[in-house]
Amino acid sequence: MLLKDIIGYNDIKDQFITAYKFNKLHHAHLLMDQPQGASLPLVIAFAQYINCQQPIDNDSCNLCSSCLKYNKLAHPDLHFSFPYQIDKKNNIELCQDLYPSWKNQFESNQYFSDLDWINTIELNNSQGKITAIECKEIVRKIHLHNFEAKYKVFIIWQIERAEEEANILLKSLEEPSENTIFFLISLNHDFVLTTILSRCQTWRIPPLKLEDANKICMNRGLQYDNNELARIWQDSEGIIGKLIQLLEDNDNHISEQASKWLHSILAQKYEVLFAMSDYIASLNRLQQKQFYKTASTTIRYWLIQNATQNNFKINSYNVPDNEQLYSSVLYLDEAIYHVERNSNARMQFLDISIFLKKQFA
Ligand SMILES: [Zn+2]
Repeated sequence: MLLKDIIGYNDIKDQFITAYKFNKLHHAHLLMDQPQGASLPLVIAFAQYINCQQPIDNDSCNLCSSCLKYNKLAHPDLHFSFPYQIDKKNNIELCQDLYPSWKNQFESNQYFSDLDWINTIELNNSQGKITAIECKEIVRKIHLHNFEAKYKVFIIWQIERAEEEANILLKSLEEPSENTIFFLISLNHDFVLTTILSRCQTWRIPPLKLEDANKICMNRGLQYDNNELARIWQDSEGIIGKLIQLLEDNDNHISEQASKWLHSILAQKYEVLFAMSDYIASLNRLQQKQFYKTASTTIRYWLIQNATQNNFKINSYNVPDNEQLYSSVLYLDEAIYHVERNSNARMQFLDISIFLKKQFA
């Protein structure tokens, strides 16, 4: 992964490259990020850069044997740890036992969230953990000779999920082994142990700039006018993965589908609902939330129109009274909450449709 392939974050890239060039690179870094942020691709690109045999123009060459292995996430001196659950029945004891899933997750969407990962490894009712045995494995690997790389790299994603077990790593973070670099990533800084914090150089991932959002659109061939893009960028809170998802959602016609849904219920065309449940099931969680949020916003709009206009109609259909509209909004807001908590997409969609049908009848 090249640094230039990650749009934005130029300040953080420059600071890192300068530290490396002046031989001032700290051996333990903690990146404070949010779900769907840029920290994971950034640290992989940094690690590739410092191991590149012929770096050029403040980036990796992408041609040397080290770069080729980094590109496939198959370098023997690159190690990842992440939350998981020990499952002896399926021979899962350490993170490396889940490495194919981890690699697939990153290759399908490098800005994936903690929830995406939980879903990928099918953890039910658990957030997973970086276990004591995994922490001990990291310490064991530190003491092995590097296979071939200049720097052995440990990337620990969601260090806060190691909880107290992170203390197993303290000595290694404090007294660095030669040519070993740690990149710790936290998505919830409040839970990072202070003992860990005090041993790392910390970096806060800043929000993506609007001008970079524009570059992302151009790169992906998405066309937005400036106002629309600014609105989506604001909704994304400058989190790159969220922004890309929202941009693509708009491309998926989420608002159009949400409006079609509400109008079908108003028109009592319920046969559409079953086909639509397939569409809902095809959306990821953030897109589902976006779908219900759009519907909720539309009903709020009806509420206002209903209160301020006599005989307000939508496509010649009478609008439900305000009490019914209000309970519909509350029900949708509740649904958005459940989308975040692993509800079944199809069942939930039908449940809300039935509720709205009763309100709109
Ligand atoms: Zn290279």
